[in-house]
Amino acid sequence: MAEDELPKKFSYNLDNLRWDAAHHFNEQNRYSYTGRGRKLGDPALQCERCMQWFHAKDTSCVPEEVGFVPFQRNYRFTCRVCTGAKELFEVLPNTWSSIVLTAVYNLLLSDDRATIGESRKTASVKDIVEWIQSHWGSLTSGRSLPQLLENNAVPKCLHHSHNAGLLIVSADKTEVSLRSLAHAKLHLKPLLNGTVAANAAVRRPAPPRPGAPAPPVSCRSARARPQVPAKPKARDAAGSSGSKRKRGGGQRGGANKRADAMPAVPMQVASRPGMHA
Ligand SMILES: [Zn+2]
Repeated sequence: MAEDELPKKFSYNLDNLRWDAAHHFNEQNRYSYTGRGRKLGDPALQCERCMQWFHAKDTSCVPEEVGFVPFQRNYRFTCRVCTGAKELFEVLPNTWSSIVLTAVYNLLLSDDRATIGESRKTASVKDIVEWIQSHWGSLTSGRSLPQLLENNAVPKCLHHSHNAGLLIVSADKTEVSLRSLAHAKLHLKPLLNGTVAANAAVRRPAPPRPGAPAPPVSCRSARARPQVPAKPKARDAAGSSGSKRKRGGGQRGGANKRADAMPAVPMQVASRPGMHA
């Protein structure tokens, strides 16, 4: 939708909406600027200020070439009502854990896009890898294809302790299912809400040298994070931080000191007016 066609206020009262515990869905089924209903699998963005969800196609800031997919979480978005002017949108580096979870959700989505894990209960590791490869774009910002294809990023992430809390991997390690199908238990919120903008500035890594081996995989985000005290029990920063806004960016146990951290970014899109002024 063109920017000047977007309303600058909601057509309904945001304060009257009753939300689930995770603030994913409201009982009134009102979203976006106009209050249009939303299905689970509709590509949607959450505004980091008002927390309302917006259909990607109801925004003006997500161009088609970004390839924004359902359940994608590596972005910052502020709606036009909150800015009083243009929407703000920025693609952030993603983590393998978040990418894998997005892939699993999409693969287990029902044909009517309303449920996950009911009509399709398992996804194969092979399908997850292929799905990620076929959706390589803004979703995989900051990650490298050799990690996916040569360095077993997906199998490694599936056995990460955090993911073990979300996913069940079959004994032969070829199939994945979700531990919980409740919508409020899904990880849908943007990663690291509002905490990393300064660190996520456009910074292009050097191109890989011909014949260079694939870099090792880290399930954690590669980006530098705000320094907060490490928690005693290190869990995956990637997935757990997304739904826990109070955790201050998900820093765990010096993750960004790891030798296998990947260089951050290229940004596919950074249409944040005024940000780079
Ligand atoms: Zn807003």
